[in-house]
Amino acid sequence: MTGSKPFRATTQRAGVLEVVQEADGHLTAGEIFERVRQRDSRIAYGTVYRTLHLLAERGLIQELTFADAASRYDKRVDRHDHVSCRECGLILDVDVPIALIARHVAEEQSGFAVESHHTVFAGRCPACRAATTG
Ligand SMILES: [Zn+2]
Ligand SMILES: [Zn+2]
Repeated sequence: MTGSKPFRATTQRAGVLEVVQEADGHLTAGEIFERVRQRDSRIAYGTVYRTLHLLAERGLIQELTFADAASRYDKRVDRHDHVSCRECGLILDVDVPIALIARHVAEEQSGFAVESHHTVFAGRCPACRAATTG
C-alpha cells in the first residue's frame, strides 16, 4: 500500500458509490465498509454509513430496509421488488407488475398518498433448493 495520504471527502464519497455500483447484489453497510476499506484503510465505518445515507438521499443509490435485517444498498434506483432467500440471504431483483395494483389497494384502504412501495418475496433460492433436494 502506497496511499499514506487520506482521501478527501469527495473521493471517499466516489469510492463508496463505486463499491455499490460495482457490486452484483445488495450489500449491507458492513459489507460495503469492508470493500471500501480495502482501497482506503483509514476510512471509518461512520463515514461510510453517513455517505451511504447521503448518496441515497440524492437518489444515486437506493436504500432498502428489511423489517428484521440490516439495510441493503442497491445500485438500481428505479422501483423494483426483491426475492430473498431465507437460507443463504441471497437477494435478487424482480419486477412484479402486481405490485402496482397493491399500491392502489393500500391507498384505498388507508387514505395515504403512497409515494413508494417495495415487496420482498421470501423463500429459498435455486442453489439452496438443489442442496436439500439433490
Ligand atoms: Zn439460498
Ligand atoms: Zn434491487
